Amino acid sequence: MAASRFVVQLHDATALHFDLRIQVGGVLRSWAVPKGPSLDPGVRRLAVPVPDHDLAAGDFEGVHEGQPRGSGAVIIWDEGSAGIIRDEPGHLSFTLRGHKLTGGFGLTRTGERRWILVKVRDEHARPGSDIVAEQPASVRSGRIWQELADGHPRAAGTEPAE
Ligand code: MN
Repeated sequence: MAASRFVVQLHDATALHFDLRIQVGGVLRSWAVPKGPSLDPGVRRLAVPVPDHDLAAGDFEGVHEGQPRGSGAVIIWDEGSAGIIRDEPGHLSFTLRGHKLTGGFGLTRTGERRWILVKVRDEHARPGSDIVAEQPASVRSGRIWQELADGHPRAAGTEPAE
């Protein structure tokens, strides 16, 4: 099992979303997860693949200036070590050891730009939980994204997506 790192950034762009980034080789493979990850194995979360990012992108917390929609605020919602168990076309299974996310997860492609993120049923699974609501703050700074967004108001007429 290859050792690597992962980060989940909460990003206030056109729609509020989470960016799940997992190091595979020398890059961060990335998916935008609108509703964020869950520790409930019964919850399937849409994960839209986005281009690989360089490793440094996983350390960014702050405000992306000049973003056309949203405040551009980014917090490091979770991070830690990752182990890649299986990496094949259309499927990635991995374990995470973060502050909030632990245990096994799977990402499976179900469409052209559509993957599904699920928690594996293991001892770290927490059926019925909502980790995104329970622990909204940055694991680095303790801040919530709205604190970074202060002074960087949303563009008119935009609201976070579900
Ligand atoms: Mn993003």
